[in-house]
Amino acid sequence: MLAAMPPSSPNPQDRGEAHIRDRVRERGDACPGALRLHRADDGSLARLRLPTGVLTHRQVLALADAADRLGDGHLSLTSRGNVELRGLGEGCGLGLVDLLRDAGLLPSERHERVRNMVVSPLAGAGVQAWAARLDELLCAEDWTPELSGRFLFAVDDGRGDVAGLAADVTLIAEPAGTGLVRVGRTTHRVSSADAPRAALAAAGAFLAAARAAGTGAWRVRELPAGQDVDVDGHLRRAGVAAEPVPDAAFPTCPPPAPGTAGDGMLSVLARLGRVTTAQFRALLPAGEVRVTPWRGFVLPGFTDPAAARERLRALDGAGFITRTDSPWIGVTACTGRPGCAKSLSDVRADARPREGALPVHWSGCARRCGHPQGAWTDMVATGEGAYQPTVQGPTK
Ligand code: SF4
Repeated sequence: MLAAMPPSSPNPQDRGEAHIRDRVRERGDACPGALRLHRADDGSLARLRLPTGVLTHRQVLALADAADRLGDGHLSLTSRGNVELRGLGEGCGLGLVDLLRDAGLLPSERHERVRNMVVSPLAGAGVQAWAARLDELLCAEDWTPELSGRFLFAVDDGRGDVAGLAADVTLIAEPAGTGLVRVGRTTHRVSSADAPRAALAAAGAFLAAARAAGTGAWRVRELPAGQDVDVDGHLRRAGVAAEPVPDAAFPTCPPPAPGTAGDGMLSVLARLGRVTTAQFRALLPAGEVRVTPWRGFVLPGFTDPAAARERLRALDGAGFITRTDSPWIGVTACTGRPGCAKSLSDVRADARPREGALPVHWSGCARRCGHPQGAWTDMVATGEGAYQPTVQGPTK
């Protein structure tokens, strides 16, 4: 059932103003992608979605090649496990598209900006298969490009690392082999085989609710309070047998710490979320490289502890954060100069660890782009190389 419409004003002009007042998004979705580049002060920026987070050996080489030939020789990692190329020159768009398509990183040009997904980076084959299937389904539908470039899916293997990332639709694996699909405050249990289709149906339910609300919502949390999201109906029409799970409890766990992460996997972090192409290539050889939403990488396949230790030493030498006692853990920075004209300083050159238990975020201006959730130490530039420290966010 749709939420009741508010009483209409007898004055058409009043109705128009009320409509405008209630909208949460007035402008179109300008999220950058691999095809829609964002113009920055240091050249154009391309954001490449990596729905499963997994890159093959060949794809790592292709992205490093793209950054060297077309960009500024670096790759930036986002909090959604995506990769950005910066400093792209005029007219490089077609070359970039060809390169990405040849590497299998652009399966559908129409859908490339809505392939937003975070996946537990230590997940086994079953949950990885869910993510890959969900991506296939997303790219096969005509309606899914109507989702915004901000709409996010999370596929959690049951440990709770990505379930806490405030996705719009979250799939969580259960020990019994079933899956939970959560959208807003609604949770259903589905069979493992149905889980990817259930997640897609939940996204369809959101889109229908967003259209009905007419407020321009891009995310589930932007829907008006009380707006009905007919998840049951969409699951039924998708042929998914689902059991509602009221008051479902969800697991939570921190992200993988740098070092050996169990199950023969290595975990490393990129300092300030950015790597040179030489560092990126230093992740190889690898059967696969998993990009994490915590601006790092996971490398599977290290069952021999001695080989794992040797590889971690090599990655440490290449400049990655490989130890839990690194002071660089929790240090983040905005783009700053020269990429952003608003910046009062070269933030990434200035950023450094600080004493204290809180994460620290360095910004070139008061917009504080990319700041962490929760409480953090805030370092905002007040001039060239000068910063004002404060504590931001909830401290209790
Ligand atoms: S915080 Fe300010 S200086 Fe930094 S990237 Fe955002 S707008 Fe630019």
